[in-house]
Amino acid sequence: MALESLKLVAKKILGSTIVDKKLVEEIVRDIQRALIKADVNIKQVKEISDSIRKRALKEDILPTLGTREHVLKIVYEELVKGIGEGFELPLRKSRIMLVGLQGSGKTTTAAKIAKYFKDRGLKTAVVAADTWRPAAYDQLEQLAKKHGLVFFGIKREKDANKIIREAIKNLEEADMIIVDTAGRHAFEDELIKEMIQISNELKPDYKFLVIDAAIGQLASKQAKLFHEAIGIDGIIITKFDGTAKGGGALSAAREIGIPIVFIGTGEKIEDFEKFDPRGFVSRLLGMGDLKTLIEKVERIVSKEKVDTEVFLKGTFTLKDVYNQIEAMSKMGPMRKILEMLPFGISLKIDESMAEVTQEKIKKFKVIMDSMTEEELLNPRIIDSSRIKRIAIGSGTNPQDVKELLKYYKTMKDLMRRIKKGKLPFRGIRLGI
Ligand code: GDP
Ligand code: MG
Repeated sequence: MALESLKLVAKKILGSTIVDKKLVEEIVRDIQRALIKADVNIKQVKEISDSIRKRALKEDILPTLGTREHVLKIVYEELVKGIGEGFELPLRKSRIMLVGLQGSGKTTTAAKIAKYFKDRGLKTAVVAADTWRPAAYDQLEQLAKKHGLVFFGIKREKDANKIIREAIKNLEEADMIIVDTAGRHAFEDELIKEMIQISNELKPDYKFLVIDAAIGQLASKQAKLFHEAIGIDGIIITKFDGTAKGGGALSAAREIGIPIVFIGTGEKIEDFEKFDPRGFVSRLLGMGDLKTLIEKVERIVSKEKVDTEVFLKGTFTLKDVYNQIEAMSKMGPMRKILEMLPFGISLKIDESMAEVTQEKIKKFKVIMDSMTEEELLNPRIIDSSRIKRIAIGSGTNPQDVKELLKYYKTMKDLMRRIKKGKLPFRGIRLGI
């Protein structure tokens, strides 16, 4: 990803011995290059880099920060300012209509939104109103079934308005109704007509445009057309994971003045994030996104009825691992968690740790069942002879026991660092 190279900019700033005009020019050039490569629109690139240059060379350095941190803070702030706004969708009764071209990710996103707010306590429902693609009904129904979402659709019904009317009648209980609509390959009159009709019938509280990040700068034209036709309240950028051109969609939103609501970062239903410009930029600069990470941990632990204090105390034992291993595995792949940590926090994990499968979790539990209370409370005493005994007792092998111990150490370290929530350099707590 082109924006990834912004991490190097942050490193360059923090690693420099002198902060002078030359360094600032160099940094500004690096940032320009990264943004342009990511398809951010040239005018915005110029605005961002001009303000960084101006502020970095003129502003008085805050007494609490060093020069380097001061420059990094300016870069961070100007990128946040330049990257556009987020939008906090309130947790209340609402109807959401998704629009966008075919293949942009509407159907997937409908399910992602429903899951996202269901996990946060709302009664959500998805409605299949794409009457053009026969497979769209099945696709949404399957997604809903798989993730326990309420689904409404009328198979083979060609009248989208009828579907909407029936959906409203049938889904009175739902707090949030998310309507998937048809897209076309191109932006045509017929698409506009149908969008307007559905919108009139549904009376959505929010109309969100779903844009595929891979289209880069073309996002601007697309967003303008949709906005002029039906008025868009927010943009959802999908497939941010697979492209270097995501900056194009970001700058389209900024150009038109529409907030970005969510970002899709993968095909799985949980690969979906609320767009928070501060956390986003913080992560781009390699400074982690502790806010999102902490939210994630807290949400999972509260859902699993796990005591947050115990979870985050940092001195947790294997007994805590035993009690909370399910919750921890729900935080997702270790890889994704690590992306949210600042670069100063380097946790050594190998491939086997990156993805802890359900199978492995079962094995870990069996192993822990063969441990004594003393070992669970004080894992440090587990030496090689104890490892052998535990392996025999649990019908596993010493390698498995060692893997569990490694998992435990990594989690412990991770929790401790999250709890500390500090960035590796003085004074700045970005994105929090
Ligand atoms: P629609 O035609 O607008 O309804 O698009 P779909 O929801 O059917 O999505 C089209 C394809 O994009 C599917 O294969 C999805 O799995 C994939 N997709 C959707 N969102 C994302 C995302 O955020 N990342 C990735 N990698 N793939 C996505
Ligand atoms: Mg679809």
